[in-house]
Amino acid sequence: MTGSLTITPDAPDDPYIRAWWQLDGNEFLAYRDIRRFGRIRCVSAGQYDTIPTLAFQGPDALSADFTSEGFYLALRKSRRRIPTQLLSQKPVAGVGNIYSTEALWMAGVHPAKRQISREAATSLHAALLEVLKAGLANGGTTLRDYRNADGGEGSHQNALACYGRSGQPCLRCQTPLQHRLYDARTLTFCPQCQPR
Ligand SMILES: [Zn+2]
Repeated sequence: MTGSLTITPDAPDDPYIRAWWQLDGNEFLAYRDIRRFGRIRCVSAGQYDTIPTLAFQGPDALSADFTSEGFYLALRKSRRRIPTQLLSQKPVAGVGNIYSTEALWMAGVHPAKRQISREAATSLHAALLEVLKAGLANGGTTLRDYRNADGGEGSHQNALACYGRSGQPCLRCQTPLQHRLYDARTLTFCPQCQPR
């Protein structure tokens, strides 16, 4: 959740580093995890399905396996709300609440929806790719203690259009964004651009 992997030139000297590996070239890969939520498992290369938390995951969002049609069919298998499905990692792996919120806003999908059309799924698929690629280009989104692999903060929090902007005008239509509790999560959306 809020752990970080960092590459450092020196052997880590920090009580919150739970594991580190010496890499080729004498650099170190350090895993820092203050709250001890993380887990590390050792498996043979390619045998990732033997890790229970990965076994049920959908295709990686940025892999060629993540297709618009496959995404639509995966969403149809569940009656849960679309954001809840996204956060389950089953239709696609690698999307958290920030990017889910941004993509739903971009695609015009209301966060309370449980089923969406093929056209809407195609728009949401494209929006997910767009927001994830923009997030990567900005080095990630630093809200609390996220750090990218260089130990720096990302800058994507400055580029968010919907997440964390409840009450502020929608960048597309100027309607004030709203937030509401869905499935125990506060989700922000534009009531105009994301009709129910
Ligand atoms: Zn709007």
